[in-house]
Amino acid sequence: MVHNFNAGPSILPREVFEEASRAILNFNDTGLSILEFGHRTPLFENVMGEAISLVKELMQLNADKEVMFLHGGASTQFFQVPMNLLDEDALAAYLDCGIWGTKAIKEAKQFGHVEVVASSKDRNYSYIPKGYKITSDAAYFHYTTNNTVEGTQMHSIPDTVVPLVADMSSDILSRSMDFNRFSLIYAGAQKNIGAAGVNLVIADKNILGKTKRKIPSMMDYRQHIEHGSMLNTPPVFAVYVCLLTLRWLKKTGGVAAIEKLNREKAGLLYDTLDASTLFKPTVAKEDRSLMNVVFVLDDPEKEKAFLQLCKQEGMIGVKGHRSVGGFRVSLYNAMPLESVKQLTALMKAFEQRHV
Ligand SMILES: *Cc1c(COP(=O)(O)O)cnc(C)c1O
Repeated sequence: MVHNFNAGPSILPREVFEEASRAILNFNDTGLSILEFGHRTPLFENVMGEAISLVKELMQLNADKEVMFLHGGASTQFFQVPMNLLDEDALAAYLDCGIWGTKAIKEAKQFGHVEVVASSKDRNYSYIPKGYKITSDAAYFHYTTNNTVEGTQMHSIPDTVVPLVADMSSDILSRSMDFNRFSLIYAGAQKNIGAAGVNLVIADKNILGKTKRKIPSMMDYRQHIEHGSMLNTPPVFAVYVCLLTLRWLKKTGGVAAIEKLNREKAGLLYDTLDASTLFKPTVAKEDRSLMNVVFVLDDPEKEKAFLQLCKQEGMIGVKGHRSVGGFRVSLYNAMPLESVKQLTALMKAFEQRHV
């Protein structure tokens, strides 16, 4: 038995893997593989159409919101967002809360002025800054809802009149939120919604088409909306895997039900950490992520020993990112509670032997 705590690409529901494999050989009893027929066919148009409508339904989006499946991963959105929303002489506000946010800031600077309203770099991104001001004439305010590497998460939506743009790559569809508050949301699929190679982008129609810049067709959100995410050949298989995961999520009870399970999983792990004299969580308590739990041991030898033990017990992907060290355990939607129970039991057993 393998317990997959990878940060991304990461665990998806078993039934999604099974159904996706069947579709590679015989899609919907057509005798055709999902990989071998045209995207401009009712067969694939139905896949795309259902995926888009499930996103709208699960996130309870209002009619102003357009859902797109685009290429390039979240990193492409780091520049596609300012390319579409930020004029050269205008200003965008950014929150600097981790490695991914920093990359988004770097890209945005190529298109206009960027104001970093606050940063938690001073303490290695171990907390979320609070009490900052967002200039009211900013074209938009960008932040990362969940910092995948550092293990922090924003637990409320910033209160501002400035249009909100969020990178939700690692916590999309993991908790209830008023998604309609956002003018633009993007997420690489490979953490909570599907296979790598596709991005979910949700944009408010009303913020598009305002920049003076000429935008290449493949980078222009309006073109993708107009063509139903089929401006060119979409990543058909990756979109199909998203559809299967979205169906699974709906069947499981939707976002509110998965949030309850996610809170239970993270609660169990953080309670274990808080009760431990050996393992230490690295982030501010009020900013703890429900998706990526980061912790360390005070002795590199013990860290090695615990990693070895995890490997022996089939616990995959628990090694921390090189910028933080220690351990990072990712608890995405498809992670079963049982795996977290086994991991915490292992931590307790390790502690008994090493204190
Ligand atoms: C993984 C991740 C990214 C990068 O995604 P790619 O699809 O590899 O470009 C960006 N932002 C966040 C928050 C992530 O977790």
